[in-house]
Amino acid sequence: MNEDEKIIIGISSCLLGNQVRYDGGHKRDRYITDTLGNFFEFVPVCPEVECGLPIPREAMRLIGDPQTPRLVTNKSGVDHTEKMQSWAKKRVEQLASENLCGFIFKSKSPSSGMERVKVYDTNNVPQSVGVGLFAQIFMDRFPLLPVEEEGRLHDLKLRENFIESVFVYRRWRDTVSDFTPQKLVTFHTDHKLLLRAHSEKHYRELGRIAAKAGSDAPKELLAAYQDTLMACMKLKPTVKKHVNVLMHMMGYFKKLLSSDEKQELLEIIEQFRNQHIPLIVPITLFNHYVRKYNEQYLMQQHYLTPHPTELKLRNHA
Ligand code: SF4
Repeated sequence: MNEDEKIIIGISSCLLGNQVRYDGGHKRDRYITDTLGNFFEFVPVCPEVECGLPIPREAMRLIGDPQTPRLVTNKSGVDHTEKMQSWAKKRVEQLASENLCGFIFKSKSPSSGMERVKVYDTNNVPQSVGVGLFAQIFMDRFPLLPVEEEGRLHDLKLRENFIESVFVYRRWRDTVSDFTPQKLVTFHTDHKLLLRAHSEKHYRELGRIAAKAGSDAPKELLAAYQDTLMACMKLKPTVKKHVNVLMHMMGYFKKLLSSDEKQELLEIIEQFRNQHIPLIVPITLFNHYVRKYNEQYLMQQHYLTPHPTELKLRNHA
């Protein structure tokens, strides 16, 4: 993977500051444009404008059955459901060739919202249980792709999980682009600690699948690995899971560190366990020892540098 190459991410167009909203405005999100924009190349999508509606336009909402809602304008009651759905089905096929590694949706939108979008019943009472029409068709077409909404990206844990998943997905895509059994084994080996921080169960299952590389048919093998990998990434790391990984890493320095250094490391892990310090503190100390002792196995582990440090994703306690 060329680390300098930006990762391609789909995004609801108004989040970039494009004036495509029903009222001619935008919903620029500075974290997305000014911070993530340094690492991601965005492919903007505005379902309402791209399906042929003007700017400005009448606001719309979802009505009816939350499983199969209709997209209808608020006052005049014009039903845009078929128009939106037939456009969306074509658009997702175009997006399939864009090499997307994720998508950031605009929350609450009847077209772009990923979850908890208001759906109005026959008494005009809303329930926040719907999915925007385009978002639903996108997620059905790309069920494994990391997706998130801009509002949830301001939750530091959700942000870290999404961005980490995007980077893992990108590395995975590069691995399968010219697959060899050895590349799968290397991918798995280099992600072992990162996977364990998400789910021990999935990590073990992925190990069983990777062990069949070279004997099972590549297509089935890759599909099984990919499904389990992305299911694993959906399970968020917890302090407890991180502590287990950090303690496991300590084992690699058993014979290298002095008792004082080990004690210091244990105290720092304990402070992290009590959430007095952020994860970046023990990770920085481990990275220091990895370099100092040239610890080859840990040096390869993406767990120690899963995403650029400039994003400061591990700086929260
Ligand atoms: S929420 Fe979606 S449909 Fe609405 S303006 Fe933004 S991109 Fe367009």
